[in-house]
Amino acid sequence: MTIHREQYDIAILGSGFGGSLLASILCQQGFKVCLIDKSVHPRFAIGESSTPAADMILYSLAVNYGLDELIPLCRFGTWQESYPDIHCGCKRGFSYFWHGGDSGFQSTPNHEHELLVAASESRDVADTQWYRADVDHLFCNVAVKRGAVLYENTYVEGIHHTGLNHWKIRLQNDESNEIHSSFIVDATGGSSVLLKSLHVPKLTHQLQTNSSAVYSHFNSVPNVDQWLIGHGIQQDDYPYPVDDSAIHHVFDDGWLWQLRFENGPTSMGFVYNNETHHFEFQPHEEWETLLNSHPALKRVCADFKLSQHPGKVFRVNRLQRLFSLNAGDDWAALPFTAGFIDPLHSTGIAHTLIGVQRLAEILIDCGVGNSSERLREYSDKILNEFFHIDRLVAGCYRHMNNFERFKSWTMVYFAAATTFEQRYHSGSEDFLCAADGEFHGIVAQLFDELCSLNQSECTTEQFVDHIRREIEPFNTVGLFEPEVNNMYRYTAAEK
Ligand SMILES: Cc1cc2nc3c(=O)[nH]c(=O)nc-3n(C[C@H](O)[C@H](O)[C@H](O)COP(=O)(O)OP(=O)(O)OC[C@H]3O[C@@H](n4cnc5c(N)ncnc54)[C@H](O)[C@@H]3O)c2cc1C
Repeated sequence: MTIHREQYDIAILGSGFGGSLLASILCQQGFKVCLIDKSVHPRFAIGESSTPAADMILYSLAVNYGLDELIPLCRFGTWQESYPDIHCGCKRGFSYFWHGGDSGFQSTPNHEHELLVAASESRDVADTQWYRADVDHLFCNVAVKRGAVLYENTYVEGIHHTGLNHWKIRLQNDESNEIHSSFIVDATGGSSVLLKSLHVPKLTHQLQTNSSAVYSHFNSVPNVDQWLIGHGIQQDDYPYPVDDSAIHHVFDDGWLWQLRFENGPTSMGFVYNNETHHFEFQPHEEWETLLNSHPALKRVCADFKLSQHPGKVFRVNRLQRLFSLNAGDDWAALPFTAGFIDPLHSTGIAHTLIGVQRLAEILIDCGVGNSSERLREYSDKILNEFFHIDRLVAGCYRHMNNFERFKSWTMVYFAAATTFEQRYHSGSEDFLCAADGEFHGIVAQLFDELCSLNQSECTTEQFVDHIRREIEPFNTVGLFEPEVNNMYRYTAAEK
C-alpha cells in the first residue's frame, strides 16, 4: 500500500465556517494549509442565528484579509443580492414570548409577556439566520480557492506529536495519507479531536448552566404573526415584523427557538433546563412528548412536518462542555471546539469568529514556531469568556418562571453585547466585555447575590432595580426604559 505523505505549515481539523475561514486567511498570508473533515459539504449543521457582533467581526476579517466575496454575507440585503442561492433568513432582532406561570401566554397593553429587542433598522441592513449547509459550503469553497488543500470524507485516525512543530496526522479515507504539519488547529466543534487526543482535562463540572436540546428543521411552520393575531395581540408598535427575528418561546422549564429561512424551512429546537428535565425517549419521540407536555407549542407549530434535510431530530443530552486548555506551543482550538454554553443568547458564531481573528493575528505576527506566550493568552481569554457567558446564560435559566426577572437578566447580556459592539469599532476584541474588570465583576457579583436567592428573599422590583442600577455605566442604548413597553427599537452599534 502506498502512503502519501504531505507537509503543511498548518493542518486545520474541521471545515465548518470557523476552520474554513481561518484557512482562507492563512492561505492569503502565504501559509501552506490543509483542511480535514469527516463530512462532505453541503452537510447539516446547527448554530444558525447570527448577531450584529458576528457581522462586524466577519466584515472586518473579510476586509482586512482581502476576502471580498464574504463581505455581502454581513448584511441581509447584500447577501440576498449577491448570493440568492446561499440560503439564509432575515434577523431584525431577538423576540421573546413568555408562556410560563399558571395561565400561559397572555396579551396585555404593555406587552408584559413579550420582549422585542431590535438590532437593525431595516431588512436591508439586518443580521441573518445562516442556513449552515449552504454557508459552510461557501466558506469551504473560498478556502479551497485561496489554496487550502481539502481532505473531505476523511477521519483523523491518529495524531502524533513527535517534537515541537512536528505533528504527524494519520488519515483514514480512500487513500492512505499521512500528513505532517508544524501547527494544528482543532476546529472540529463538539468532536474536539485534538483536545481529546491530548487528554486535556475538562472543566464542564464548574459551569452553572445545565441544559439539553432537541432540534431539527421543519416545514409548514405557520408565521408567528398569525399566532399573535390569534391571541389578539397588537403588533402596531412592534419594532419589526416578528417573523424576521430570532424567536424565543420561553416556558418555566426551557425555551423553544424558531428561526425562519427564506427558502422555506424553519429551524426549531427546544432547550430544556436539566434541573427539571431528563430525556427518556428516542429523539423523534421527544418531540411528541414535548408537544404533549407544552400544549401552547402545538398551537405555535400547528401542522409542521420534519424537513427532508436533515430528515431527523437531533438530541444533545448536555449542551455544556469546556476544556481547561485551548492552546499549547504549537496547537490551538477554536472556541466552539474548546467549549460551549448554550444557544440562548446566540453567542457561538461571534465567539468562533473572534477566535478566528485572534488566532489569525497570532500566527501571522509570530509564525508557527514562536507564539507560545500569545497562545497562552488566547487560551486564558477564551476560558474566561466561557465562564462569563455561563453566568449571563445561567441567570436567565434560574428565572424562566418569572418573566420580569428573566428579562432583566437578559438585559445584562444586551448591555454586554452592545458595549462590545461599540468598542469593537475602536479596536477592542474583548468579547462581551469579559475582560473588563468592572463589568466582569458586576456580572459575577450580581450572579452570586441574586441567583442564589430564593425568589421570596427579594421582591421582583428589588431584583430588577438592583440589576438596572448596577449595569447603568454599560447601558448606553436605553435598556430598562419602562416607557418603551418591552419594545426596544434599535440597540446595535453602526455596522
Ligand atoms: C444546539 C446548538 C444551537 C446553537 N445555536 C446557535 C445560534 O443560534 N447562534 C450562534 O451564534 N451559535 C449557535 N450555536 C453555536 C454554533 O453552532 C457554533 O458556534 C458553530 O457551529 C461553530 O462553527 P465551527 O466551524 O467552529 O464548528 P462546527 O460547525 O461544529 O464544524 C466542525 C466541523 O468539523 C467536522 N468534524 C467533526 N468531527 C470530525 C472528525 N473527527 N474529523 C474530521 N472532521 C470532523 C464536522 O464535520 C464539521 O464540518 C449553537 C450550538 C448548538 C450545539
